[in-house]
Amino acid sequence: MKFVSTRNSDEKIMASEALKRGMAPDKGLYVPINIPIIRFKSLPDSFSDLSYEVIRPFFKDDILETKLKDICKKAFNFDLPLINLEHEVDILELFHGPTAAFKDFGARFLAECLSQLQTIEQKEVTILVATSGDTGGAVASAFFKRPFTQVFVLFPEGRVSKRQEKQLTCWGENIHSFAVKGAFDDCQDLVKAAFINSKFNQNFLLSSANSINLGRLLPQMAYYHYATKNYLKKWNKKPIIIIPSGNLGNALGAVWAMEMGAPIKKIILAVNENKTIPEYLDSGEWKPKASVQTLANAMDVGNPSNMERLTHYFPNLNDLKNKISSYSVSDNEIRSTIKETYLKYNQIICPHTAVAENIRNRYFKNNPVMIVATAHPSKFETVIQPLLNVDIPIPKQLADVLCRKSHFEIIENNLDVFYKACFNSSTQKK
Ligand SMILES: *Cc1c(COP(=O)(O)O)cnc(C)c1O
Repeated sequence: MKFVSTRNSDEKIMASEALKRGMAPDKGLYVPINIPIIRFKSLPDSFSDLSYEVIRPFFKDDILETKLKDICKKAFNFDLPLINLEHEVDILELFHGPTAAFKDFGARFLAECLSQLQTIEQKEVTILVATSGDTGGAVASAFFKRPFTQVFVLFPEGRVSKRQEKQLTCWGENIHSFAVKGAFDDCQDLVKAAFINSKFNQNFLLSSANSINLGRLLPQMAYYHYATKNYLKKWNKKPIIIIPSGNLGNALGAVWAMEMGAPIKKIILAVNENKTIPEYLDSGEWKPKASVQTLANAMDVGNPSNMERLTHYFPNLNDLKNKISSYSVSDNEIRSTIKETYLKYNQIICPHTAVAENIRNRYFKNNPVMIVATAHPSKFETVIQPLLNVDIPIPKQLADVLCRKSHFEIIENNLDVFYKACFNSSTQKK
């Protein structure tokens, strides 16, 4: 299987190369030349075996093809249960990995792939990652203490929850964290600028672990095959999937899964007050904006990068609208949905998941629905505890992180400052 940039299909590369590069030199995003079709009925039951079967066509003839089974086994060593809410309504819990958010799937898969490649090639890699909350923690955890790798994590100062911040800053050794004076979009812009900056490229062999990296998307596609196969077995129907969305990485995985033949009726992009996507679907005009701060902070994205991949496959707006719709939810609606879900179902959901559940209640009552739960509620206790007045149990993996010591540097939103900070704290140079 070959991959091309969304902006220029002349250069065709293999999956491993796309994983290493992150973004294409022309600033486009890598996409597979074609999406393979899979017969979901023949897929195995265990998630690690199923993900291997689903991801394998994308690694056909790749240097990692023979390692892929082992990579899936090591990366996906935690559960992803479907929790029942009511008749034909399930919650897909994607937060049982080491940092308690769905980002663990992509980050751990990418880390395993890059480790295998570095062992083959014996090259030191520097990973830059901008995070609106959970990506950085998942990436840091996945790459912590791995040889041949250092990670620079950028997060918006004061705009992540205390527990998220701890997950971003508690590592040390080969993980370096910077709080940027700005918003998530500024962090993302710094990373994008670094990739095409000559000083960065002279001194570091750069790779990215953001949701623009292909290695993050492939596992996200695999879990939709797994979950919808199980949903179909249980309810004998194809679900509408409602996905809390920011940069659209998670949703893109679902769209690819649907194109491959996974039993999905429709995909709903659930967004907070950052409405770039629903406005685009309404008007046909792409108007990225500065991000607005909300309670669902990992979705505070005003310029969702992965839209470029979606429009690459569906250049015609009506084709895209046949597959997906999108609705926006306010902070007040997030609060009331967290309360109602607890009272009605005795389920504590995080603010991101609440965005999806609000949309189900408003638009998809009495439909077969799968809600995607993207993070464990205990990461957002400052939002949830005052609403529900209950203690939220902390999963063990999160508790382990919370008692570690934080270290990070605050930096200006400026490429030169970012470069110097990287250079000074670097543990390896090209
Ligand atoms: C990252 C994240 C999202 C948004 O996912 P995208 O792939 O960026 O659309 C939603 N919820 C949580 C908890 C997240 O960490």
